[in-house]
Amino acid sequence: MADVLKKVPVREQEAKVRATNFEEVCYGYDKEEAMEEAVRCLNCKNAKCIQGCPVAIDIPGFISKVKEGDIEGAYKVIGESSALPAICGRVCPQESQCECRCIRGIKGEPVSIGKLERFVADYALEHDIKPRKAEKMNGHKVAVIGSGPSGLTCAGDLAKMGYDVTVFEALHELGGVLVYGIPEFRLPKEKVVKKEIEKVKELGVKFETNVVIGKSTTIDQLMEEEEFEAVFIGSGAGLPMFMGIPGETANGVFSANEYLTRSNLMKAFDDNYDTPIAAGKKVAVVGGGNVAMDAARTALRLGAEVHIVYRRSEAELPARVEEVHHAMEEGIIFNLLTNPKEILVDENGWVRGMRVIKMELGEPDASGRRRPVEIPGSEYEIELDTVIMSLGTSPNPLIASTTKGLETNRRKCIVAEEENGQTSKACVYAGGDAVTGAATVILAMGAGKAGAKGIHELLSNK
Ligand SMILES: Cc1cc2nc3c(=O)[nH]c(=O)nc-3n(C[C@H](O)[C@H](O)[C@H](O)COP(=O)(O)OP(=O)(O)OC[C@H]3O[C@@H](n4cnc5c(N)ncnc54)[C@H](O)[C@@H]3O)c2cc1C
Repeated sequence: MADVLKKVPVREQEAKVRATNFEEVCYGYDKEEAMEEAVRCLNCKNAKCIQGCPVAIDIPGFISKVKEGDIEGAYKVIGESSALPAICGRVCPQESQCECRCIRGIKGEPVSIGKLERFVADYALEHDIKPRKAEKMNGHKVAVIGSGPSGLTCAGDLAKMGYDVTVFEALHELGGVLVYGIPEFRLPKEKVVKKEIEKVKELGVKFETNVVIGKSTTIDQLMEEEEFEAVFIGSGAGLPMFMGIPGETANGVFSANEYLTRSNLMKAFDDNYDTPIAAGKKVAVVGGGNVAMDAARTALRLGAEVHIVYRRSEAELPARVEEVHHAMEEGIIFNLLTNPKEILVDENGWVRGMRVIKMELGEPDASGRRRPVEIPGSEYEIELDTVIMSLGTSPNPLIASTTKGLETNRRKCIVAEEENGQTSKACVYAGGDAVTGAATVILAMGAGKAGAKGIHELLSNK
């Protein structure tokens, strides 16, 4: 008899083996395991888990279908709210959203909502279950900038309502961070991301790649010359931040975004490609978020000894608990309460090490977290060949600087209403990281939905 207080365990690749390959870490549930886990859902009348989901998936509704073995029915329930469930089932921070509100979590472990969502979505991809399409087009033309989760969601929702939607993407590949940032071992590209984007295409959304809005054309031109009646900006926050310490411009220093793009999109790990990645023997990743964990685990798989250098303690690491756990299991070395002071550079301009200082936690700062304070006289040097800076990103100012009347704040984020994505410019909406700064996939999707709602309110009254 299974223990109802515990989640049905999910199968994973063994840590030692997976540290040497780029295959997916987690295998997910099979049908039998999913149905067994679904039985743990209490089908609460006032389901708190739904309140925790930024796109308000009817969680008990889809889990009831899984319980009955009706997986296609479960997919239809999820599909009403989310266009990218196989992606969200893998990368959403469920532990701080839906699962942390699950009543089961009071006495035991919450229902494994994320793994159930992933199972249902993978089943739909394998069995090519089609999403619901618009019955007829309404004649209104909308442009979406960026093919990340916010743009894809906005485009998909509008297409379902009958809008003629074109997505303009600066890169040659669709998916935003889902393809160039999050590594293959967490989010497979061919098996998952490309297939979920195909489903958005099946809704009738058109895509144009290699179009940089602000360079190839502008928002004002799209509206004035190409007859787009509304625009949604989902251009993300791809501009990396640096510390401003000596040595940061040396060869062998990367931003995490650049390092991951070289690996994911430019296949630097593959000998058939000549993209350099400075696959060092000893790598330090500065930072403690999801992006830092991804960069560290990528460098590890490329054969390096990898150190995370983070100025606070383990309890404050901003990355998902599961990612930290996986990184530790795989052998990443955590230099906690440690902060870089200088990157040491050899006579040829290449990284040779890093001078760091030990930290302790002082009084809480404005964010409520205890402020890290340097311990005088505790500096020491680490020998390194590569440094990856993972300190956060901000939106690229290109779109704001080429669009008349588009307001941004002091963090370079586009100012937009949370409820409907409306910006300071008429008929222009925005959402996702471009508005919030670096956040999460599901929050970007929530903002894409809000933008679609705002555009529908605007154009359906026209
Ligand atoms: C390495 C990494 C790991 C992450 N891990 C997680 C995780 O585990 N869980 C989680 O929830 N979140 C994670 N995130 C955050 C999450 O991926 C982002 O919050 C999310 O992708 C934001 O979606 P978006 O649509 O706003 O922007 P993006 O995904 O950044 O997409 C923006 C798109 O717009 C395009 N674009 C930009 N400028 C222009 C232009 N001028 N013209 C045309 N196109 C343009 C870009 O090329 C890009 O394709 C991670 C982020 C990174 C970098």
